Amino acid sequence: MSVMLITGGAGFIGSHLCERLLKEGHEVICLDNFFTGSKSNIIHLMDNHRFELIRHDITREIFLEVDEIFNLACPASPIHYQYNPIKTVKTNVMGAVNMLGLAKRIRAKILQASTSEVYGDPAVHPQKEDYWGNVNPIGLRSCYDEGKRCAETLFVDYHRQNNVRIKIIRIFNTYGPRMQPDDGRVVSNFIIQALQNKEITIYGEGTQTRSFQYIDDLLEGMLRFMQTGDDTIGPVNIGNENEFTIMELANLVIEITNSRSKISFLPLPENDPVQRRPDTRYAKELLNWEAKVQLREGLIQTIAYFDDLLKQTT
Ligand code: NAD
Ligand code: UDP
Repeated sequence: MSVMLITGGAGFIGSHLCERLLKEGHEVICLDNFFTGSKSNIIHLMDNHRFELIRHDITREIFLEVDEIFNLACPASPIHYQYNPIKTVKTNVMGAVNMLGLAKRIRAKILQASTSEVYGDPAVHPQKEDYWGNVNPIGLRSCYDEGKRCAETLFVDYHRQNNVRIKIIRIFNTYGPRMQPDDGRVVSNFIIQALQNKEITIYGEGTQTRSFQYIDDLLEGMLRFMQTGDDTIGPVNIGNENEFTIMELANLVIEITNSRSKISFLPLPENDPVQRRPDTRYAKELLNWEAKVQLREGLIQTIAYFDDLLKQTT
């Protein structure tokens, strides 16, 4: 049994990770400032005597004693990370410094939840870990993209300079139960719109692509990577290689929900990547891991979650 600190533990991915680590018998400290996370995501864990919740903002330092740190704190959807872009940069950069400082002091292993967004609007397809990316440093997405890139730099420099035991994963679009219904991400938007028979809002013509990974696959990849030796630091892509256009996603959601929704087309947001698909050969070779859950299967689970949620709130 180890003591695990999960920053952003009350968010979508963080809450699933808290649950999984508790199931594995660990002590879990969930740290969150509740910007996009919520107590409802972790309320079912509160009775567990191995679970602890701390309301804290990672832009400020904290003194704790733990074995492993999963640094997930950061709003992940464009609507939320663009709400206060300066705060997003601070969370990524000052938050990384604080968590790395903590890891250095207590000799803890630390994982950074980086993102496919470090590749920007990629000029290379699919994206492999050694591709340096195509990122606008002054665009609306930059607070997130560049913030995450700088966090990667800090992680690697703390490793080189101070021997901190680091792990960097680059997460590709992930979905599943407990995504926030109002965070504007495409999977949650389309599901809610379809369940309510409202118009499905496609930005642009729907020809842009993404590769959607179900939450369980991400957790498996992340935890396998955390168990690798100290010389293995990443970055490693964790994502599903099956690529879909946004139009295909819309049609699949409409079909599964048996919805009467029609599609409407809205302007494409600035710097919206045209295509995105991970090359996950490194993860396969290193972790004997690959994403297994098919989009249809994962959508069925996620739709069931949102269906329940909507019934509770109406
Ligand atoms: P989320 O918004 O649901 O969770 C983020 C959590 O961090 C929330 O609980 C929020 O309250 C908390 N938080 C934000 N700023 C904080 C701060 N300054 N101090 C303390 N807590 C803070 O998002 P998610 O989808 O669960 O993403 C988790 C992590 O994974 C993020 O770092 C995100 O960048 C990364 N990621 C997610 C995806 C995805 O598709 N979901 C893809 C790539 C990377
Ligand atoms: N998108 C869309 N309709 C929506 C929400 C998003 O067409 O209601 C598009 C968005 O423009 C992008 C893709 O879906 O091309 C994925 O968007 P999301 O915000 O989920 O993730 P990201 O752009 O960060 O990959």
